[in-house]
Amino acid sequence: MDRQVSALPTLGSRHVDPHNYPSGVAYLDGQYVPVSEAKISVLDYGFLHSDATYDTVHVWNGRFFRLDLHIERFFGGLERLRMSIPYDREAVAEILHNCVALSGHRSAYVEMLCTRGASPTFSRDPRDAVNRFMAFAIPFGSVANAEQLERGLHVAISNRVRIPPASIDPAIKNYHWLDLVRGLYDAYDNNAETALLLDFDGNVAEGPGFNVLTVKDGRLTTPATGVLPGITRRTVFDLCAELGIEAAATTVSVEALRGADEVFITSTAGGIMPVTRIDGAPIADGKVGPMTRRLKDLYWQRHEDPAWSSPVRYP
Ligand code: PLP
Repeated sequence: MDRQVSALPTLGSRHVDPHNYPSGVAYLDGQYVPVSEAKISVLDYGFLHSDATYDTVHVWNGRFFRLDLHIERFFGGLERLRMSIPYDREAVAEILHNCVALSGHRSAYVEMLCTRGASPTFSRDPRDAVNRFMAFAIPFGSVANAEQLERGLHVAISNRVRIPPASIDPAIKNYHWLDLVRGLYDAYDNNAETALLLDFDGNVAEGPGFNVLTVKDGRLTTPATGVLPGITRRTVFDLCAELGIEAAATTVSVEALRGADEVFITSTAGGIMPVTRIDGAPIADGKVGPMTRRLKDLYWQRHEDPAWSSPVRYP
């Protein structure tokens, strides 16, 4: 396997502006290529029907964080969507290591994905399509920027309903993001920085790429259903179990959210991120709370812990 980016084939990049893409390396069709040259067909059902699943893991200071959990969730999605790829878990891990190593990034956003693919006859029968596995590593990115991480995000509650789990199982990590993206535009129109969507019953669900947690009287709660079972959210539960802090996945009403002592969101893209305003009103005193800070510090410390992280196999 060639691990040199400089030796990668060029794929006719005449019409591609490489500056339109973050720097990184992708794997598709058995090759590692610069991200700017990683292309899929317009006939791929992943693109035409959003018929795809994916997972995102991050690398921080040269180490993957909880890679095994991300690969496990990805394979769960493949199975439920009846997709198959010619790689087992170890081979996928190897490809992800290679993407990061070739990119040279010490902190990276690393995605593995599978699309339904295309069929030679443009058949309507999904069984005729040839599934396609791809992966890429680009620089680490966060839902919240440095300033927002310090002072807390300003969030707007969207009046759009998150796609219900009876329609699409949220445990299959997916690209059905139109509700989330439209929620984001609504949030920007309301001078907020990101959105929180509710479920069909009017309770809190999740936001564009993150779960939400509340702290009240030292207890944590997070929505139990209608959300992606986030690995960062799970990590918070694991940390709480170690610290003896009560944490429950349950129903979270909008009143409970607004009346919380602290609110934070969780994502592989950014970790534990404080929320200090909802619809313009401060959460408690409007400052980042002590529980959020404590969990956030611990979360990042654990990125050095061999029980939860593994070194990238750089050349
Ligand atoms: N919810 C949605 C819709 C997401 O897309 C994501 C991550 O991308 C999350 C929650 C958070 O999950 P994780 O902590 O595994 O990154």
